[in-house]
Amino acid sequence: MAHPVISGDDCISCGACVEACPCNVLELGAEHAEVTDGDSCIGCGSCMGACPVGAITEIAED
Ligand code: SF4
Ligand code: SF4
Repeated sequence: MAHPVISGDDCISCGACVEACPCNVLELGAEHAEVTDGDSCIGCGSCMGACPVGAITEIAED
């Protein structure tokens, strides 16, 4: 199962990854973007490409 790895320290909560995800995997939490539905992630990488500050460091497989 794929899921994005988000660096909470780097995230500026812009919401770009939430908008970019075609599968509604991500939501903006109180402090930073969060994976709320990892089971739906297809590993496309759109969230990583949309992030302006590189806070999504990898699409991990587990
Ligand atoms: S890799 Fe694709 S499906 Fe998975 S969270 Fe990012 S945008 Fe969504
Ligand atoms: S695109 Fe990057 S900076 Fe913006 S909310 Fe997502 S992880 Fe945070």
